[in-house]
Amino acid sequence: MPRVPLYSPDDVYSRLKNLQFRDETNKYLPYNDEVWRRAVKLLPGITIHLTASEWKKLNLKTKTFKDNREYEVFEPGWTDKIYSYVWHHFKLSCPFSFQTPKISRGSDIFLSINGACDECKNEIHLYSLEDASDDGIDFHVSTCDTKHIKHVKKRQLRGNTRKEVINELNGKSTYMWRRQKADEKMEFGDDEPADLPKESVLRNAKYTKNRKDLGLESFSHHILAVENLKTNPKYSEALHEIAFNKMYVMYWLPEQISLYKLFMQKDPIKEIKIDATGSLIQCLSANDNSKRVILYYQVIATYQKSSLPLLQLVSEKHDANTLSYWLREWLRCGINAPKQVVTDFSLALLNAATLAFNNMPLSQYIDECYKSVVDGTLIEKTTILRIDVAHLCKFVSMWPCFNKNNRH
Ligand SMILES: [Zn+2]
Repeated sequence: MPRVPLYSPDDVYSRLKNLQFRDETNKYLPYNDEVWRRAVKLLPGITIHLTASEWKKLNLKTKTFKDNREYEVFEPGWTDKIYSYVWHHFKLSCPFSFQTPKISRGSDIFLSINGACDECKNEIHLYSLEDASDDGIDFHVSTCDTKHIKHVKKRQLRGNTRKEVINELNGKSTYMWRRQKADEKMEFGDDEPADLPKESVLRNAKYTKNRKDLGLESFSHHILAVENLKTNPKYSEALHEIAFNKMYVMYWLPEQISLYKLFMQKDPIKEIKIDATGSLIQCLSANDNSKRVILYYQVIATYQKSSLPLLQLVSEKHDANTLSYWLREWLRCGINAPKQVVTDFSLALLNAATLAFNNMPLSQYIDECYKSVVDGTLIEKTTILRIDVAHLCKFVSMWPCFNKNNRH
């Protein structure tokens, strides 16, 4: 890549025209003559100044290698620090890879670091003539201005930097973390720095850490991984039933049973809510390449404005039979059926709830309710089914009388 000179010929002429580089015999003055140093000062290069504490963070140490020779090396992770200094000064989004620095005390150049961008092929050379003093150290920098080039690649997230990022991500969404870092590193109109990882990389780092923390091992199938968890005392009490094909996992903690019992004692209405979502769990692929849709089912109760999670099911089966079996297994833990159940308009859930809690199919339950309204009798020892308001409004809004084409 052609480099644009830092100074134009006119600049060089106007800065150096008053200096004498030759002696009276018209020979160039020797290398160590003061005039050359003055010339360098009149044509300053681009430098990055590191304070003494910033330099210390690079942690230069002497290391003995296999050939018994000793070299001075930086602590692992130094490339991330060097890139962050380069970004801070020049705002270049090149994902530079740096070569091992060359350090030679007593020579003209104390420290030299070369790097290159794999994407636009830009090269960078940082060098320092002298060791750091109490004021820090100056790195002279030679590179191209690539701000106008769009970069897609990023520097790899690894080593200590990866660990630090994972710790910072604890309890925080990858989106929010990325946004905060962008606010810290960037100003309006800047390109993205190469050390701001993509969200997919952050999610992967977080996922790997969570897997490790949970003791999840790699398996050929997700269900085998869950089955393996059952052998772990930490999870064995929570995992109640696991099916392979079609898959489902029923799980609830003993603490959730205690919580439900307490709720049934204290709450006057004794109402639970059952809902399902497909947005949390990735679909599996079937042999014929069709999607195996996995839903997450959750039972909750609301007590004094707090939501209490009571029961869970992750299932590929969404029929009333399976769902009522799940609820019946829950009841078998020695608990009473709730007094009210709120669901959406899912026929499977409505059917499952009345099968499990009232021991009758939905059609019979509706007949009983109708009879009770007509005869004015009370329905005793029955769990009342209710549809939540949002779903009911949506359902009613779809009635033909509310269709604008049918209005008169
Ligand atoms: Zn580049």
